[in-house]
Amino acid sequence: MLIVMKTDATDSQVQAVLRVIEDLGFKPHPMPGATRTAIGITGNQGAVDPSHFENLAGVAEAIRVSKPYKLITLDLRPEKTIVRIGDATIGGDDLAIIAGPCAIESRAQAFAIAETVRRSGARFFRGGAYKPRTSPYAFQGLGEEGLKILAEVRDLYGLKIVTEALDEAGVDLVERYGDMVQIGARNMQNFSLLRRAGKSHLPILLKRGLSATLDEWLLAAEYIMSEGNYQIALCERGIRTFAQHTRNTMDLAAIPAVRRVSHLPVLVDPSHGTGKNYMVTPLARAGVAVGADGLMVEVHDQPDHALSDGAQALTPEQYEQLVSEVRAIHEVVVPAHVS
Ligand code: PEP
Ligand code: MN
Repeated sequence: MLIVMKTDATDSQVQAVLRVIEDLGFKPHPMPGATRTAIGITGNQGAVDPSHFENLAGVAEAIRVSKPYKLITLDLRPEKTIVRIGDATIGGDDLAIIAGPCAIESRAQAFAIAETVRRSGARFFRGGAYKPRTSPYAFQGLGEEGLKILAEVRDLYGLKIVTEALDEAGVDLVERYGDMVQIGARNMQNFSLLRRAGKSHLPILLKRGLSATLDEWLLAAEYIMSEGNYQIALCERGIRTFAQHTRNTMDLAAIPAVRRVSHLPVLVDPSHGTGKNYMVTPLARAGVAVGADGLMVEVHDQPDHALSDGAQALTPEQYEQLVSEVRAIHEVVVPAHVS
């Protein structure tokens, strides 16, 4: 059920509707928009009777939702969500650039890369302190020590920190040291982690699962939103296909497909999306051209010595070139993008 308030509905009329929803034992999700407030309802098992709402003051319509998602949809919020971290945004007018190494390896490595990222004008620094590795014997990240280094990067370079939580306890830690919680591809359907992310005060970067359909990905975002956290950015990072010329197949069609149904911003990650250094910049250009709100990209000061994902890491010079190219493309794409 979706309640659409009249454009001139007052605050107290909205509050009255929220109370009715709570009294029925459900959870209301008010979404104030440019022209009207809509209120999503979750927590109901079966259909909600629209007659509870139809005659309340200020209500324009009570609409039955037939789609599997209720909160991520443009029906609830026709305007795009802008994820805000201080004065940095994802989904606003600026192209969001999240850059940094795959993993934090040392203070010197993190600072050297942060210097490059800051110089490029990007607002977000990424780096894993906890790494989801295919092999239990591969480098697993520095753990809390890595988070402490990230917190120093934030203080020294003024960059917002995006870093992965592998589990619920990891969210507690990222909340202590970071600015945005990354949920990785392998965890996209870890439902207890999604629910914990939904209770976080930090925004969430939700990567697409390795074999996730669009609906599965959007329903993962729905898990987070249903707990009350509406600050989510999606990230297309490539899916598993039969192709052997890339690590993953970057599904660029996912960007307009998400845009058609959801108000959430969507990023592309051409690093994991290709796995190959020489493909990262071309696919970054393509991602921005199809309307992505930003990029997540891996950079390393010494890719040959990286402890994880070195083959897809850009050198600082390559990264700087990428940023200037994608900014130029974004300038051209923005008018179409906004309409
Ligand atoms: C990463 O961002 O380094 C990462 C592990 O990504 P993904 O979850 O997309 O594989
Ligand atoms: Mn990586």
